[in-house]
Amino acid sequence: MFICKFKAMKIFKISIFTLILTLSVSQLNGQSEKELAKAADKFHAKHFTIDTHNDTALHFNNPNRGHSVTKGQVTFPMMREGGLDAAFFAIFLGQGVRSEEGHNSAKETAERELVNFLEYVKSQEGVRIAHSADDLLMNKREGYLSVVPALENGYPIGKDISLLTHFYKLGVRAITLCHNKNNEICDASMDANSEYGGLSEFGVLVVKEMNRLGIAVDVSHASVETLKDVLAVSTKPVIATHSGVWSIKHHNRNLRDEEIAAIAEKGGLIQIATGRFFLSDKPKEEVTVKDIADHIDHAVKIAGIEHIGIGTDFDGGGGVVGLENVSKMKNITIELMRRGYTEYQLSRFWGENLLDFLRKIQN
Ligand SMILES: [Zn+2]
Repeated sequence: MFICKFKAMKIFKISIFTLILTLSVSQLNGQSEKELAKAADKFHAKHFTIDTHNDTALHFNNPNRGHSVTKGQVTFPMMREGGLDAAFFAIFLGQGVRSEEGHNSAKETAERELVNFLEYVKSQEGVRIAHSADDLLMNKREGYLSVVPALENGYPIGKDISLLTHFYKLGVRAITLCHNKNNEICDASMDANSEYGGLSEFGVLVVKEMNRLGIAVDVSHASVETLKDVLAVSTKPVIATHSGVWSIKHHNRNLRDEEIAAIAEKGGLIQIATGRFFLSDKPKEEVTVKDIADHIDHAVKIAGIEHIGIGTDFDGGGGVVGLENVSKMKNITIELMRRGYTEYQLSRFWGENLLDFLRKIQN
């Protein structure tokens, strides 16, 4: 078939033009990705960063502990690689039998695991235990990572209010009121049975005592009614150390828009969790850092950047594609930068909010 010379030339020119355009766009993307990574490195070196929930302590203490979720997502060298300065390391206790014997045994387990873990931390170079905003900032300044001791589940407190002082003296600075089942303190979000319709009478005393001592009241895992009661009773701001956004994913562990607004209104924090079940219905391999950023975006729209942060839940179900472990933390920063978050917004999100929160509750 005959194609005229001019037509052939025209096709050739268009192809060359398309090729050049494609090359330059991909080069531009490549360059901007590199620049984003560089900007994230710079950001993390400069600003204090903290993750308000992992379940790594038990993993360190009992590496062969049977568990269905991914393990070994946090080590101190990986924290450095990921540009994470600090984390709340929670001693997790599943809800057991609610008898005097059960409570005593839970108290002994919590105490033993906590002491063992803190001994381990003290044996590690470049890491320190932190109890306050000042500790956290000093450690950052002096090049140390920080471990903030926490308890996930008030079950080991049983019905003994004096144990709050006991755990405070052992270093605990945050307690998740309950886990998936109701306990002596309150109703849990994953328990179908509403036992108290929120906080128990003992739970009211627990919140007041935590306020007095300066222990962060963690409302992740609490039922809708429990959160309402806590917000009414607490004289200090409260924190959801690892929760998602209910309006994006209808999971009972996630927070409704009005709950996010109410926590923020009281000066508290909503720390977005990274477990895929809290984020999306998509298959495992399709849930990525973008999904985490979607939850962050939504929570920020409701509460403002001054009330949002991150609580990975690593070694307890946290992590998605692109955030497989703590060494990948900068990928969150990169995604948020891509979405236009400023240095100020990122500094609030990554650490300044939490430092302010600790100052408020420990005063
Ligand atoms: Zn949890």
